[in-house]
Amino acid sequence: VTILAIESSCDETSAAICTDGKILSNYIANQSVHEKYGGVVPELASRAHMQNIVPVVKAAIDTAGCSLDQVDAIAFTQSPGLIGSLLVGSQFAKSLSLALNKPLIAVHHMQAHVIANLIEEKKPSFPFICLTVSGGHTQIVVCESPTQLRVIGETIDDAAGEAFDKSAKLLGLPYPGGPLIDKHAKEGNPDRFQFPEPKIPGLNFSFSGLKTSILYFLQNAGTSLVYKEEFKASEQERYDFIQNNLNDICASIQQRIITILLNKVKKAAEETGITDLCLAGGVSANSGLRKAFEEMGRKKGWNTFIPAFQYCTDNAAMIAITAYYKYQERQFADLSTEASARAEW
Ligand code: ATP
Ligand code: MG
Ligand code: FE
Repeated sequence: VTILAIESSCDETSAAICTDGKILSNYIANQSVHEKYGGVVPELASRAHMQNIVPVVKAAIDTAGCSLDQVDAIAFTQSPGLIGSLLVGSQFAKSLSLALNKPLIAVHHMQAHVIANLIEEKKPSFPFICLTVSGGHTQIVVCESPTQLRVIGETIDDAAGEAFDKSAKLLGLPYPGGPLIDKHAKEGNPDRFQFPEPKIPGLNFSFSGLKTSILYFLQNAGTSLVYKEEFKASEQERYDFIQNNLNDICASIQQRIITILLNKVKKAAEETGITDLCLAGGVSANSGLRKAFEEMGRKKGWNTFIPAFQYCTDNAAMIAITAYYKYQERQFADLSTEASARAEW
């Protein structure tokens, strides 16, 4: 079975070919137009998808060394995401499905992030727990089978990726700041500054308090985590403080985000008794999180799995592998299937 998959939920235009569960190609076009705006501009993202989609699909097919008539099904990201972006990929997939007379498979983007863990040879066994940490979501998911997933915990405010990006913004770093925090954290002391861990019941997460404490911390040039008029630093003092301590600040912020995430994963594993644990989503590209996650597994005797870098951030390979399992269960979509910005599982 050969599947052509298209991902266009946010600001990456991607196409992949998967044959019998093996990824033959995974082509990703990033959009640089958003950098100067400090975040993804939906209208610009849709336009860039329009420009990219044909060459990206062609590149995926060429790289895989196959042709369109060898494709057995067309898969696309149906939801969630930016509606204008989703529409480009979904309309393109529907047109191809109609023209080639091949079935259509609609894929849930967050399910695909989880199922990216089934791309490589070394696979988790079912049921497994997945911590999905991306730009828009932070979820703990129990995965019973490739098509049966259940969210048992999620963020009540910001996503982990937003926590990275917003922290980076406060530090004057460009968007997306997550990778830059990662880079500076490698050179810094994570125990230098103590940011608070929120007390949220159950398996849910919260990151907005962290963001506020970082804001006050910087406004006070590192003297306090709470707002106090007498600590308030001048613009110059704040700037100098950041420049002189950037690595330690990044390392300390990153360490706190990691402990917030991993403490809940530990809790989920202990409560469910599940011992195969996966990581997914763009933030799983974070080197500190990857290390700490594996370290936790070694200490607890749990098996840990992390997708290769190119399958962590948005990519069509994860859509293709998810579609491969949906194909086996004959979970096809018809041409009236609509893209949607938000969606339940
Ligand atoms: P969603 O999947 O929730 O719809 P998204 O697809 O936009 O959101 P991804 O592309 O999976 O999200 O992930 C992007 C996020 O990952 C950004 O917030 C980015 O800063 C973060 N990120 C990427 N690399 C790293 C890194 N090395 N360290 C920390 N964060 C990172
Ligand atoms: Mg992205
Ligand atoms: Fe994503």
